[in-house]
Amino acid sequence: MPALYNFSAGPAMLPAEVMQQAQEELRNWQGSGISVMEISHRDPAFMRMAEQAEQDLRELMTIPEQYHVLFMHGGGRGQFSAVPQNIAAPDATVDYLNTGVWSDFAIREAGKFVKHVNVAGGVEQRAEGKAIVAREHWQLSDNAAYFHYCPNETVDGLALHTIPTDIKAPIVADMSSNILSEPLDITKFGIVYAGAQKNIGPSGFAIAIVDKNLLGQPQPQLSTIMDYAVQAEQGSMYNTPNTYAWYISGLVFAWLKRQGGVEAMGKINAEKARKIYDYVDSSAFYRNEVHPEFRSRMNVPFLLADDSLDALFLQQANAAGLVGLKGHRYVGGMRASIYNAMPMAGIDTLLEFMHDFAQKNG
Ligand SMILES: *Cc1c(COP(=O)(O)O)cnc(C)c1O
Repeated sequence: MPALYNFSAGPAMLPAEVMQQAQEELRNWQGSGISVMEISHRDPAFMRMAEQAEQDLRELMTIPEQYHVLFMHGGGRGQFSAVPQNIAAPDATVDYLNTGVWSDFAIREAGKFVKHVNVAGGVEQRAEGKAIVAREHWQLSDNAAYFHYCPNETVDGLALHTIPTDIKAPIVADMSSNILSEPLDITKFGIVYAGAQKNIGPSGFAIAIVDKNLLGQPQPQLSTIMDYAVQAEQGSMYNTPNTYAWYISGLVFAWLKRQGGVEAMGKINAEKARKIYDYVDSSAFYRNEVHPEFRSRMNVPFLLADDSLDALFLQQANAAGLVGLKGHRYVGGMRASIYNAMPMAGIDTLLEFMHDFAQKNG
């Protein structure tokens, strides 16, 4: 197989070492003679693996005892409804920042479960590009049950790199596409959640890191599998969890520890993103429309000056082993998703290709 670099936004590439190990163990996990997919989630060996995965995640993110770490069903969007139903009353007010496609979906879902969803702020066009409205202009409610935002808008390639300050309500963050990509002070948050398929593992699985103080008064109709308190009580095994996703996620956490954890990943990720933005900014053939301060380090959208070349670009990129570069259907153009698993060699190969393509077609 030739080297292939997968820039898909999600489900996204997983570390080569992890895939190798999963393949080797597929039909004989830990000498059992069967697959990890084929044993009970109550089996002591599985329980040990599951606990180790949680411990490794706690260590990677420095998560204190004060927080539950939950392995949930239903991906990122499952959490859009789980959050309001777990920690807000039906007649509550909640504050949301609307910074892009994913925030917008989260807001609409919350509207089904709470009476007042206040959009506190959003995006604006500045001379240097698309930006998030400054903190002093946000219209926060006095009595919000929580404040929700998406620090990394996967589709838009727009990120808020600082944790909002002076927010009275507990902060809830959708980190589906940037969890574990750099160090994070989890104690600033009430809940951090993430669908797994960008930076952790297989899709349909989600991690929720929940401050224990927020629980106790869920909405009455909350389905039991989405009840944080029940899942915490049951070790995320109220019903049969997604055992294979849990296993793969555990392999990814162990891999991250071997790489030097989020500190090391943060440095590499910053460098990977910087290389692409520097090249795009220096080129008349490509452009990125996001304000430099708000550019995502995980999802780098870029446009060709002549969009009639888009199809040719994608076709030749594919042939060169650079796959998954098509931008989201909402925004068009290209997008390079460069999560933890994308090695620096993938960035260098992409830039070489972009440079060649511009030379030939510019
Ligand atoms: C991908 C993504 C989601 C949706 O995840 P699903 O698992 O498909 O529900 C939500 N939020 C963000 C920021 C995402 O990138």
